[in-house]
Amino acid sequence: MNETNRQTARPSTTDRNGQGPAVVDHARIEAAVREILLAVGEDPDREGLLETPARVARMYAEIFSGIHADPRELLGTTFTQKYDEMVVVRDIRFDSVCEHHLLPFMGKAHVAYLPNGKIVGLSKLARVVEVLSRRPQVQERMTEELADLLMQELEPRGVGIVLEATHTCMTIRGIRKPDSLCATSAMRGVFRENAMTRSELLGLLKG
Ligand code: ZN
Repeated sequence: MNETNRQTARPSTTDRNGQGPAVVDHARIEAAVREILLAVGEDPDREGLLETPARVARMYAEIFSGIHADPRELLGTTFTQKYDEMVVVRDIRFDSVCEHHLLPFMGKAHVAYLPNGKIVGLSKLARVVEVLSRRPQVQERMTEELADLLMQELEPRGVGIVLEATHTCMTIRGIRKPDSLCATSAMRGVFRENAMTRSELLGLLKG
């Protein structure tokens, strides 16, 4: 997918006319889900499936709500604090959707940064993970987006991100490896340059 298409798929919190948040088109999802049911040979008018298209539309609005949210807004409020040691938030649970199969992948994010005079509320870090996860995603990109976002908004000395997730597109279909765990990491600043800092983080994540 090229950059232009990605832009259209990722509207900001305001639409082109500045008329407030862009919304999910429920009717369009309902029609599409009905089509899929027909295409797989089901009868969308049987009792059990009657409400399914509407339910799926509401579900998609929820699990893709991050498309319409700007994680930068969450990092706008920072505090000036003379604390220059590592900040680590471990085990932030997330549920995302793999953009290749539209199947869930879920796991944990570990977020670390070395402040440079600016700190942010710890819950904001978890909220940023939440926003990025509620979009059609690729774990590798989500990891880098998190790292780059924190580097840009907090201007810290470094950022270290590790994500571990189980992908249902690997466990319930295709290769079917139920116990596989995919780990990705993105190191920026001192976490990238300094092996000691990096191993301190990785040690904290193991403990
Ligand atoms: Zn997938």
